[in-house]
Amino acid sequence: KESRAKKFQRQHMDPDGYPSNNSNYCNQMMRRRHMTEGRCKPVNTFIHEPLVDVQAICLQGNITCKNGQPNCHKSSSSMKITDCRVTSGSKYPNCAYRTSQKERHIIVACEGNPYVPVHFDASI
Ligand code: C5P
Repeated sequence: KESRAKKFQRQHMDPDGYPSNNSNYCNQMMRRRHMTEGRCKPVNTFIHEPLVDVQAICLQGNITCKNGQPNCHKSSSSMKITDCRVTSGSKYPNCAYRTSQKERHIIVACEGNPYVPVHFDASI
């Protein structure tokens, strides 16, 4: 079975994929990473930074997650990300997304030993 850490990497990591001018990035990546099966996942963020730099967020500022759990961490640097949001006219199984590139601080939840990212909480 896929671990929570591997699932985080599948859903959120794309270190080499900054989509400089590809408005189809989210349409392609949401499908390729299996987030359009059963339903169109409404919102998903891809992170374009080295995995080690994202794992290091687990050692950075500790904050409360949106769901009230205490194990969220906010990146001390801003990171290159792509925000994918399903369009209002999107109809499963034809999932259509808007692709927006941003540079934001990100908040992830970490778990386990090693203590690694398992959930993407927000970008701010
Ligand atoms: O905030 P919410 O609970 O609706 O988020 C559900 C899921 O959407 C998160 O677990 C995460 O995988 C994804 N998400 C994201 N980027 C955001 C907000 C949510 O990838 N900015």
